[in-house]
Amino acid sequence: MGTTIFAEMSAMAVATGSVNLGQGFPDTDGPAVVAEAAAAAIMAGRGNQYPPGPGVPELRRAIAAHQQRFYGLDVNPDTEVLVTAGATEAIAAALLALTEPGDEVIAFEPYYDSYAACIALAGAVRVPVTLRPPDFRPDLDALRAAITPRTRLILLNTPHNPTGAVFSRAELTAIADLAVEHDLLVITDEVYEHMVFDGEHVPIVTLPGMAGRTVTISSAGKTFAFTGWKIGWVTGSAELVTAVRTVKQFLTFVSGGPFQYAVAEGLALPDSYYAQLNGDLRARRDLLCDGLAEAGFAVYRPAGTYFVTTDISALGETDGIAFCRSLPERAGVVAIPAAVFYDDAKAGESLVRFAFCKKPEVLEEALTRLRRGLA
Ligand code: PMP
Ligand code: GLN
Repeated sequence: MGTTIFAEMSAMAVATGSVNLGQGFPDTDGPAVVAEAAAAAIMAGRGNQYPPGPGVPELRRAIAAHQQRFYGLDVNPDTEVLVTAGATEAIAAALLALTEPGDEVIAFEPYYDSYAACIALAGAVRVPVTLRPPDFRPDLDALRAAITPRTRLILLNTPHNPTGAVFSRAELTAIADLAVEHDLLVITDEVYEHMVFDGEHVPIVTLPGMAGRTVTISSAGKTFAFTGWKIGWVTGSAELVTAVRTVKQFLTFVSGGPFQYAVAEGLALPDSYYAQLNGDLRARRDLLCDGLAEAGFAVYRPAGTYFVTTDISALGETDGIAFCRSLPERAGVVAIPAAVFYDDAKAGESLVRFAFCKKPEVLEEALTRLRRGLA
């Protein structure tokens, strides 16, 4: 496959005029004040030339303030923060920086597509621990069994794409205890940190023993609904952040100068912004989940993220990949087969992911088409 599943399915949506519930991007841009801040930065000549390697100080300070405000974390903006070209670059740079060829990286599958690719780029070996429906809870015994003397790190993602699972404090504590016991690093992808509808988001770095061994990754793409800006970040100990920066400088050197100033303003938005983002998405989750259930899917209602995973067995179908390839034709809707995120393809064979980060009327239209097309 010469393209990612997301690019393939978005292209198919455009080509067929389908409602695109595949690739996870909002169909409404983020706050106007943040967009205006980006435009103003460009016009004022802020960030139009190479910004500092670690990121502009305004954004690094805003990221540190965000970690303090939401999680009570003390982060030094000068030594413990790195701005990256989206979370995607942060994941790549962290894996390249922190693994040696042959090291084993444990990740919970289904995994976000760049994980397997970046582990491979680093010459490391991925070791899956499988999340299974209906709850997609991490199997802690399987995790323990997956650890070997070659294990270097655990690559975590909570809230989890594509399942929408939000790991609980107890689960994360058990994972942290294993990391400490076996002296493992943890790279944690928390791009959906503000999209938790049930339960709470617990950054694993806040748990005992984790401060010096955790690289935390997030991104403005999801939190401010500007996925095209590609502003992400890494926080962690000065030693770990330095290691990641050392790789990052040869991947992109720097990126998104003016956007960095704008994201700094976004991070300082009042609690009401974050509450509204969450409330709006929760309503869309419910709208899509209820409608998909009505259309005959088995629905695993997610506790967080942009995504709901469904099972098509209830529709008399078995092959999610074939189903998603035929869906534009049959119903005029695009979705993503979860099988592509599993090494154990059998485990995800009949699972299909739909995105609900779309306008309610767009979700309604998709549901109307699905009801009609699948009847
Ligand atoms: N991690 C996860 C789990 C994601 O779903 C995404 C998708 N956007 C990313 C990382 C990439 O984030 P960014 O767009 O900031 O590179
Ligand atoms: N994160 C988005 C998703 O999971 C897509 C990002 C991408 O296309 N690489 O759908």
